[in-house]
Amino acid sequence: MDSERKCESSGCGKSAKLQCPTCIKLGIPGSFFCSQECFKSNWKSHKIIHSLASNNLTKGEGNNKKDDTFNPWPYYNFTGRLRPYPQSSKRTVPLEIGRPDYADHPQGYPLSEQAVKGSGHIKVLDDEEIEGMKVACKLGREVLDEAARVCDVGVTTDEIDRIVHEACIERDCYPSPLNYYEFPASCCTSVNEVICHGIPDLRPLQDGDICNVDVTVYHRGFHGDLNETFFVGNVNDKVKNLVKVTHECLMKAIEIVKPGEKYREIGNVIQKHAQTHGFSVVRSYCGHGIHRLFHTAPNVPHYAKNRAVGVIKPGHCFTIEPMISVGTFKDEMWPDKWTAVTADGQWSAQFEQTLLVNETGCEILTIRREKNGQPHFMDKITHH
Ligand SMILES: [Zn+2]
Ligand SMILES: [Zn+2]
Repeated sequence: MDSERKCESSGCGKSAKLQCPTCIKLGIPGSFFCSQECFKSNWKSHKIIHSLASNNLTKGEGNNKKDDTFNPWPYYNFTGRLRPYPQSSKRTVPLEIGRPDYADHPQGYPLSEQAVKGSGHIKVLDDEEIEGMKVACKLGREVLDEAARVCDVGVTTDEIDRIVHEACIERDCYPSPLNYYEFPASCCTSVNEVICHGIPDLRPLQDGDICNVDVTVYHRGFHGDLNETFFVGNVNDKVKNLVKVTHECLMKAIEIVKPGEKYREIGNVIQKHAQTHGFSVVRSYCGHGIHRLFHTAPNVPHYAKNRAVGVIKPGHCFTIEPMISVGTFKDEMWPDKWTAVTADGQWSAQFEQTLLVNETGCEILTIRREKNGQPHFMDKITHH
């Protein structure tokens, strides 16, 4: 989330606010310069990346072969086989749809979130707020289900983003990720070794991929947040097992959520199950409180022996969203400053639900429902 950029002119190193307008149009990330002077002096070498990117964009339908010439970060050592593709430009939301404060902030700062950062206070929602959360979460679930329907071989994650964006607007929702700390899209799509916060782009999904779609909607003042990892075509058994175990980790964690339990216990349950199956738990990204604010207290780590603060109480609303990896728990970030990948390039899966604590346990506000309104068998809670 640190948005301090450095000028790309070699040897300059000043902080940079200017972004190459052609790169913005082509969806090429980065390309920041401190001044017109630095931009002009680099023009000759810089403009090459424009022609590489446009080449890639204008290639005909049916030619899904990756043109190896598009690489916005020639000096970055990728940890795995996935590569970035050009992105389409930022989508817009009609102004009649209610928007969070960061939607119109020039750096996408959520000022209302920042104002209470560090207080650690966990809000207890009143009846009206609970009703607001229930509606937002139900709509968020509908939007994710729309994404699930289209997630398939040959479909780009940009297309999934378009579906999510339009599904939000149809439901009078603002897609919460859009412009949050300047995030450029309406949802996160995290493919294969991407742990989370992947940016939708023009890469067509390939047979055997896994693709997590993380949707958050903002409706009448409340955010509802959930994600699922989808199989693309025929996924091998080892990967299927990773995804299955990750879902089990989430469900086992949800089962212990009840008043009086400590937030730090959640990670113990998740890591125990992941480790039993030989998998690791990502430590850099956590579950979070959510209501009128997108990300707030409590912080909910998914790993064991964490030092999370707080005791679960009725009226608390938060997410659990374990990211489970085949190999190392360690992550690193692509130069786009968003895409979190595993440090060893092995694959990672994630599931997320938004929970409301009640008197005896919790309600999964973003639960998947069958047509009859009953919870889907995979999401059914059997205990308490
Ligand atoms: Zn999410
Ligand atoms: Zn979340």
